Amino acid sequence: MTGKLTATDIQKCEALLRQRRTALRTAVLERTRSGAGAESNTAGTGVHDLKDEAFAHLLANLANTELAHAREALAAIQGALQRIADGRYGDCGDCDNPIGRERLLVQPGAERCLACQERVERAQAPPPEFSA
Ligand SMILES: [Zn+2]
Repeated sequence: MTGKLTATDIQKCEALLRQRRTALRTAVLERTRSGAGAESNTAGTGVHDLKDEAFAHLLANLANTELAHAREALAAIQGALQRIADGRYGDCGDCDNPIGRERLLVQPGAERCLACQERVERAQAPPPEFSA
């Protein structure tokens, strides 16, 4: 199939992963800070307007979803960096086959080979009527 993952490739992937980790950590920290600030502001006013509360709730949910995504991405990056440290980087977490050099260079945090990833995504995909 395609070329083997070289030491240089792994270094490239590691550098990318570290960059993304830093960016994500910064984003999560900013989110967490602004989230906490909004809460204490609401509590401090003592005014309870239902519309404002509903809106604040909506915002909190939005932030939580984004945070959850960021945390997931961070965990994936952390896992990839750990696999590099363990010398297991590039093997599919499900079937142990090589993930593929091209795939890793584009997506250094990939945990699975394309076949396994597609299987997982198909299993997680919402029913067609919700995807439009
Ligand atoms: Zn696989």
